[in-house]
Amino acid sequence: MTIAIVGAGLGGLALARVLHLHDIEAVVYEREASRGARGQGGMLDIHSGQRALREAGLIDEFFAIARGEGQDMRLLTPDGTLLLREDTPDDAPLLRPEVDRADLRDLLLDSLPEGVVRWGHAFESAADGVLRFADGSSAPYDLLVGADGANSRVRALLTEARPVHIGQNVVELCISDIDRTHPDLAAMVGRGNYWVLGKGVSLAAQRNGDGRVRIGISFYNTPEDWFTTSGIPFDDPAAARARLIDLLAGWDARFTALIAAADDTVVPRAITTLPTGLTWPSKPGVTLLGDAAHLMPPVGEGANMALLDGALLGLALAAHPGDFAAAVREYEREMFDRTSTAARESAKIQDLLMSPDAAQRLLAFFQPG
Ligand SMILES: Cc1cc2nc3c(=O)[nH]c(=O)nc-3n(C[C@H](O)[C@H](O)[C@H](O)COP(=O)(O)OP(=O)(O)OC[C@H]3O[C@@H](n4cnc5c(N)ncnc54)[C@H](O)[C@@H]3O)c2cc1C
Repeated sequence: MTIAIVGAGLGGLALARVLHLHDIEAVVYEREASRGARGQGGMLDIHSGQRALREAGLIDEFFAIARGEGQDMRLLTPDGTLLLREDTPDDAPLLRPEVDRADLRDLLLDSLPEGVVRWGHAFESAADGVLRFADGSSAPYDLLVGADGANSRVRALLTEARPVHIGQNVVELCISDIDRTHPDLAAMVGRGNYWVLGKGVSLAAQRNGDGRVRIGISFYNTPEDWFTTSGIPFDDPAAARARLIDLLAGWDARFTALIAAADDTVVPRAITTLPTGLTWPSKPGVTLLGDAAHLMPPVGEGANMALLDGALLGLALAAHPGDFAAAVREYEREMFDRTSTAARESAKIQDLLMSPDAAQRLLAFFQPG
């Protein structure tokens, strides 16, 4: 009985690891050519997903790479007013530590036997127990798990639902080696999250473990084609930075200095989500996990849910040896319930961030009463 997992992201790898711990064979098909083929982006805050890492037998290794100080937070308004500053004491419990996505993925990859992940296999279609890949190769399966992220191709085997734009467009920037190149800005951003919330625009800067600060500038209540009309020339980084500074007219010079200091990687990202509470009638030979199943606004739940999905599907398969249909039903029942709650909470925070008084509302969220 062959378990095929499409996608070597956090969810697919958590599943492969838990199956491995239970002596259940699985193969992970990943379209990237190798683990380093594509940058893995920035930091993730891992909270409920810690349970998955416990089930995967990797919790101590996780704490060794987690950054407790990454929980530090500063919240400001565009005129420079500091609304909230939280510094994490050295002995604080690691409730929501930050971790570099690449480090976490490496931890999971290194925990699997050689050959479990087959790189360079871009899934195209599946029928009659056979997977087909873009390079013309094929492989058999009895259970297919779509762990292939936001733009999942496996998803179409179970539902017609597609991600929809939610009126947020983000421009991502990066300052490399900030301690050396811009120590003043490094001190301003601090060890963790630095948020400036304005009306319809926010700037989120975050210290990464490798000495970079990554910056996301979000434009809320903007249409899906906003990047084509925004006047940001993505093929000309210097002009793109200048245009972004124009778009933040009236903001304190300290914030626009972050944009001016950024390097030449200027990346547009349109934010989409799947419908909250998406379900499908269970099918014995195929299921989904992670963003493929429940893409949410990026407010800190997606990676946690993907890790949990992978671990819990692995445990369900171990609890029902040879009965994939029963395992998938049990997994999906719990997953639909858990992730629809997380998606509703994420939608509430998203709504708050998109509101005209986002800074005050976020302050009240962090300091209720
Ligand atoms: C900017 C940003 C910040 C975020 N911050 C946080 C955070 O702090 N906390 C949090 O919990 N979540 C966060 N998220 C969400 C989180 O990144 C995702 O929810 C999580 O990565 C989903 O994991 P996954 O395994 O489902 O998919 P992914 O991590 O996207 O992995 C999918 C894998 O499938 C592969 N693949 C895709 N198509 C194919 C194919 N056809 N064939 C073979 N392989 C394929 C991809 O190459 C990839 O390796 C953030 C998201 C963004 C965009």
